[in-house]
Amino acid sequence: MRNLILNLIDFVSGFNLNKGLKKVLEMDTWDRSQIEQYQHERFEKLKFYASKSEIYRDCQAWDLKDFPKFSFDFYRTNPEKFRTNFRKIYRVIPTSGSTGTPKEIVVSKEMIQAKRTAHLKLLHWNNIKRSDLEIFIGGDVVSTKKRIYYFLKNQICLTSFDIDRDNARKYINKINQCKPKIIFSYPHALNVLLNYAEVLNLHVYQPKAIYTGAEKLHPETVQLIKHHFPETRLVNEYWSTEGNIGLSCPEGSLHVDEDTVIVEVDNVNEEGVGDLLLTNLYSYDFPIIRYPLGDKIKLSDNFCKCGRKTKVIEKIEGRSGDFFSRPNGRIISFTDMRIAKWTTNAVIIYQMIYISKEDRLVFKYVPKKGGFQIAKDEMKKYFQNHLDIDLTFEETGKIESSQSGKFQPFISV
Ligand SMILES: [Zn+2]
Repeated sequence: MRNLILNLIDFVSGFNLNKGLKKVLEMDTWDRSQIEQYQHERFEKLKFYASKSEIYRDCQAWDLKDFPKFSFDFYRTNPEKFRTNFRKIYRVIPTSGSTGTPKEIVVSKEMIQAKRTAHLKLLHWNNIKRSDLEIFIGGDVVSTKKRIYYFLKNQICLTSFDIDRDNARKYINKINQCKPKIIFSYPHALNVLLNYAEVLNLHVYQPKAIYTGAEKLHPETVQLIKHHFPETRLVNEYWSTEGNIGLSCPEGSLHVDEDTVIVEVDNVNEEGVGDLLLTNLYSYDFPIIRYPLGDKIKLSDNFCKCGRKTKVIEKIEGRSGDFFSRPNGRIISFTDMRIAKWTTNAVIIYQMIYISKEDRLVFKYVPKKGGFQIAKDEMKKYFQNHLDIDLTFEETGKIESSQSGKFQPFISV
């Protein structure tokens, strides 16, 4: 019955996901030359559409390496130059508009099909059926119409916008009562939830798999997940609005989704880490070619044990945009801050706020109220001695996410 409903949803929404899945699973058996041949053909098709835009007018004779690398600022200030305008735009997704992101991203129907298919592939790889119950924790408050849609897809949606003590208890009860096969969560939401589970002394049902997305998954959160869900497989779906970049296989490796994207690593340092340049092979309405996503990654030199010959991402480092520039010319990268060292077991959630006008930092946090305390003096001293910046603490009952439900642990105001 559930499968019938899912097929019907595909039919009505115009996405044939089952057929798409069958096709992408073929790549699992291909060798490197077959994958490259496939990518070449897809790229030729993308070039055909790209040549309809002003900026890529002459691109049909170019190889991938001939395409210029544009900065975010260029994308931000010249969006109309990229539009291919050969058909009606399918969807425009506004972004948070923070530093280092374009104002909006044009998404083609093919990009959405590819993203949904990639999700099915992740389920398939991990032996989970599309019809199995999923609890989704993320995003904004869901409309009734969407709620029905999720209900039909056998998904329960819980917003990550506003999780306080009471909501955390409700969410945990819901999980225990529904016993989902899979939980999706924005990492910060799961982090908050599991911290409250400890405070409230609540047991949480163990699903078969947990996957996270939309925000960076920090090592502290991974530890917390493993502690609460020792039997659960933690899988990663690495995506952004511009494209699904990678998926983890049963061996735990993050494979590049090479049927959808080409990933290049630019400005590689001595450790092999560099800027991710993304090409989305289905970005027909607004070509995403060698696009600077803002993440730093390292590709592995080896193939995965699972036998798939797609490239493996060995490491993802924080967004290179997560930094603030100070009046004295110094730049402090937020990812460099070792916050966990001073706050382990003492906070539910925190947000580091840089007050640019006054050149100082505020550490806002929801305390856990156990025996553990933040090592405030040590932390303050560290920032004073190493970064010559004043840090104050602000205790609060909850910290809200942005409108989209995404959480920003480091902000500049
Ligand atoms: Zn693998």
